[in-house]
Amino acid sequence: MSQSEQSSSPASQLPAEVQSRLDDGKQRHEAELIEWLKIPSISSDSSRRDDVHQAANWLLEKMNAAGLQTESISTNGFPLLVASTPPVPGAPVALVYGHYDVQPPEPLDLWTSPPFEPVVRDGKVFARGATDDKGQVLTHIHSVCDWLASGQRLPLQIKFLIEGEEEVGSQNLDDWLPELAEKLACDVVVVSDSSQYAPGRPAVTCGLRGIATYELFVDGPSHDLHSGSFGGAVANPAMALCQLLASMKDADGKIAIDGLYDDVAPIPDIERNAWKQLGADDEEFASSVGASELHG
Ligand SMILES: [Zn+2]
Repeated sequence: MSQSEQSSSPASQLPAEVQSRLDDGKQRHEAELIEWLKIPSISSDSSRRDDVHQAANWLLEKMNAAGLQTESISTNGFPLLVASTPPVPGAPVALVYGHYDVQPPEPLDLWTSPPFEPVVRDGKVFARGATDDKGQVLTHIHSVCDWLASGQRLPLQIKFLIEGEEEVGSQNLDDWLPELAEKLACDVVVVSDSSQYAPGRPAVTCGLRGIATYELFVDGPSHDLHSGSFGGAVANPAMALCQLLASMKDADGKIAIDGLYDDVAPIPDIERNAWKQLGADDEEFASSVGASELHG
């Protein structure tokens, strides 16, 4: 199926029973999301521990009720929820990753409505966690549950791995992954923790930027030097640091660190073509971030 067919009629491949169930279930889906969003599952706030556990239990019950095979794995922190639909011999397995914890809501005075009292404005749900990541997780769960509830067989097996510590570094997930490798074996991982491209235009995010943090020390002279007496003769550490940082990228924005691109896979044509069909507008994008032009 081409991208244009997909975007003009994203639901065209769904069996009619599933589609009608999804359509009929809109209000119920929204009500359930709102119920989940009311639980302040702030993983970084130790006074909210019970709430984070409650958010996990809430989801576990939903998945259980839908007939998924579920498991709550106790960790040193918050539980890892693992669930799956029945295996489909010969078909691929997709693993959906997501999280039920949320960021702290402060500063509270910047909220139009309280963060844990969800409201719908202009057809959008406003609450902490609505788009990171409870809304997306529930979209996947509702889709799968409605598919199963309509009596249809899924064309592939779907597994879920939903954690409660994404906002605090996922240490327990890291520790548990080797043990869960067999249980979570899959052909593709779908990260629910991303967004759709535009209203009515779902998107599969196939790459995310990473981040590296470090502490850097630049040594200079042993004491303060007067610029008039020493400037020019002795290198200024601040300038040395600027030059060091600037040397990490060339004028085109390409990273100039030796070997950095060695393991970076080239972008396949299918991806480039899919991007082209998104109809991205550089000018609109630049103005949306208040920049006069784009770079790179
Ligand atoms: Zn997230």
